Amino acid sequence: MGREKVYIRAVPDYDPSRIKQVIQDGLAEFGLSGAHPSDITIKPNVVMAHNKIAPSAFTRSEFMGGLIQALQDGRNPAPKITVTEKCGAGIPTSRMFRRAGYFSLKKRHKIKLQTIEESRKKTVSLKKGEIHNRITTDRKIVDNDFLIYTPKLKSNSLTHGLTAAIKLNVGILCDRERMWNHNCHLDEKIVDLLEVGYPDFIVTDAVEISMGGNHLTQQGYPLGIIIMATNPVAHDSVCARMFHLDPHKIPHLRLAHERGYGPIDPSTIDIQGDISLSAIQEKTKEWKTGFIRVDAVDCNIQVLTGEPYCTGGCHGVFLDWLYMIKDRKPKLWKKLPPWTVVIGKYPGDVKADRVLIIGTCSSVQDRLEAKKIRRIKGCPPRHKDLVLWMFFKTGILNPMFRLDLIIDAYPCLFFCWMRRVFKGRFK
Ligand code: SF4
Repeated sequence: MGREKVYIRAVPDYDPSRIKQVIQDGLAEFGLSGAHPSDITIKPNVVMAHNKIAPSAFTRSEFMGGLIQALQDGRNPAPKITVTEKCGAGIPTSRMFRRAGYFSLKKRHKIKLQTIEESRKKTVSLKKGEIHNRITTDRKIVDNDFLIYTPKLKSNSLTHGLTAAIKLNVGILCDRERMWNHNCHLDEKIVDLLEVGYPDFIVTDAVEISMGGNHLTQQGYPLGIIIMATNPVAHDSVCARMFHLDPHKIPHLRLAHERGYGPIDPSTIDIQGDISLSAIQEKTKEWKTGFIRVDAVDCNIQVLTGEPYCTGGCHGVFLDWLYMIKDRKPKLWKKLPPWTVVIGKYPGDVKADRVLIIGTCSSVQDRLEAKKIRRIKGCPPRHKDLVLWMFFKTGILNPMFRLDLIIDAYPCLFFCWMRRVFKGRFK
């Protein structure tokens, strides 16, 4: 396999004109500035956007503005640009586009904003899929002249500490396909999606990254760089090393490499640009990804785990739920009520006051003695459902339990479904 290039540039802030210039340099570096695609699709990360509880979770609109200017500059006629995305499960993407400032972006730059759930779709059969035989996504992800991924660089406890370009593909699926096998098979599932979601160019918003807890609610850190590449495996391997992670120990990266999608070893990747990897690692050396086992979390809630241990399923989703409180409600974090939570098939006796069993397959294999036993089903439960059911079953109010987000997640979702029914796009 040949050497792939990853190009990194230092950028101090979200000034769109500076971002435009840097991206134009990046396109030239990869020999792409002479290309004149007329139909460009851009896939950002807008999994969740909220100015109070998720201010650092998404690709910033100023960053997208700089990219769009870089693509439109001096082109006559200007290329047709579609920005397409599916946000977190159970929430309409149009609400997250609004909260992320993408509606003003659309007005300023005359682009098309497309929510994947309401788009015209295409079903593609996969030749190398291990979990998916076929997937259905927005036609614009499949049929375009040029596909650009603009991930937000973040840590993520569901995917062994990292979310960058490859993980972005989970957001090309609508909810039912997205949640299917979102368990101990998540890594294989993510790699399957590369067969359809393989970008021609990656430009990553790492001006401010987010790290250390739940990938929706964790804190932002100023890293001050833009990362560009044409190979997602090489790109993500370098991102992993920025977080002091070994790419071989991130299963979706290792599997993508083993399936021939790109290089993972430092000796096979050229890193170029105006800032070195070691200078970036020096900045991030004290920053923690937050990726630990859920039964290692130090708080009043005791977690007992059994097999299967689903990093991308119940175990990871409950770790995310705990981090939401740690990230955004530090006072409650210190006073969490002492529940015992069982996830997976726990091999032993459990004797406690209050026991909560999370996950359809989860159980206590020997004797269970408790005054109160509650259960939350799902394989895994979606974040939205876990937030809701944890409140109803344990009385613990997660920071995501807010009136504005409840309106997004229920009445707005209902109107989104109605629009899909009227447009005949309920696939
Ligand atoms: S229900 Fe069982 S298999 Fe499914 S995600 Fe939860 S622990 Fe994993």
